[in-house]
Amino acid sequence: MPLQRDKKDIRTRAVHTGVYKDASYNSVTTPIYPTSTFYFDALRKNKGYDYTRSGNPTRTALEENIASLEGGVGASATATGMAAITTALFFLKPGDHVITGDDIYGGTYRLFDQVFSSWGIDFHFVHMRDPNTLRKALTKKTKMVWIETPSNPLLNIVDLEAVIALARKKDILTVVDNTFLSPYFQKPFEFGADMVMHSTTKYLNGHSDVVGGALVYGNKELERKGRFLINALGVSQAPFDAWLVLRGVKTLAQRMEAHQANARTIAQFLEKHKSVKKVYYPGLQSHPQYALIKKQMTGFGGIVSFELDTQNVPLDAFFRKLKYFSLAESLGGVESLVEHPYSMSHASMGKAALKTSGITPETIRISAGIEGVQDLINDLDHALCG
Ligand SMILES: *Cc1c(COP(=O)(O)O)cnc(C)c1O
Repeated sequence: MPLQRDKKDIRTRAVHTGVYKDASYNSVTTPIYPTSTFYFDALRKNKGYDYTRSGNPTRTALEENIASLEGGVGASATATGMAAITTALFFLKPGDHVITGDDIYGGTYRLFDQVFSSWGIDFHFVHMRDPNTLRKALTKKTKMVWIETPSNPLLNIVDLEAVIALARKKDILTVVDNTFLSPYFQKPFEFGADMVMHSTTKYLNGHSDVVGGALVYGNKELERKGRFLINALGVSQAPFDAWLVLRGVKTLAQRMEAHQANARTIAQFLEKHKSVKKVYYPGLQSHPQYALIKKQMTGFGGIVSFELDTQNVPLDAFFRKLKYFSLAESLGGVESLVEHPYSMSHASMGKAALKTSGITPETIRISAGIEGVQDLINDLDHALCG
């Protein structure tokens, strides 16, 4: 049965899809197959696997699971999120033109701006939250639109329906980085996206103990090409890492609900605090794109960003006083994290691009964990006292 027609509850699919790979002893969880190679029963006769870079049953289990959650025809699990992005970019060739947002993930920006642009691919970074800027940036050479929504760290929203429709009319490939919301809160394929990309390091794994990525395909032709590239480039995920992500993904729904509940309470608390100048969270009615948010997302996610009034509270003091929020890059794990995009996750963008995207030295990003929310609020309240 094609995966996209699998209508079972996403919570059921997260637990059951792809996992039963042991016919010898009927283990309930997927075994880890730590082998580089698989022996042939006879010439041209094996059990579907020959070499782990090309395929491994533990990795297959995770790929089937993620493809089902997103509603794609298939998925590839990669060593990191950046490996998935790199693979997607190799669908292009020199001379091609890519349009993307000016507020995308810092590592994606660096890969586009400092690596692929020297291989002859042109990138145009625009305010994607306004579909008109995309329309104006289109050229005959535009071959890909790279979408990240909500954006990191300012939670700007790209109108998936409008932007994808515009690209499709011109046969331009659309790829959506769905890391921030996960398929639990947003399904880009329902809006016609060609591929969906994940840093599984974040919510899909959810326990901050592995790095990984995924590229999910909207049709068989893209899947064939993607699988070829993953094998040729050598960027597939190790069996043990794939096993960790598969273990984590089973509780995706429950974790996303918990992250969201905490993030929402934190956003409402920050919005009222005198040392906070501005709060960015899709679940606040004050978000300028609230109507669009209600239309294309089924939840708001677990990331909250805000502008700290550093006249009142020096940055150093704020970070030092926090007890439950570790000062760290990354997001999407069960433990709460806090970071300073300007000097950490987004520093590689450079000052000019940071300014265009709206990230300031006072911007702070929180990844709400699943701890007791009153403890988190008390912690923030203490750190915000100055
Ligand atoms: C972390 C992240 C990536 C990169 O993934 P890695 O697993 O760190 O390689 C890409 N996009 C977004 C939105 C991310 O948060």
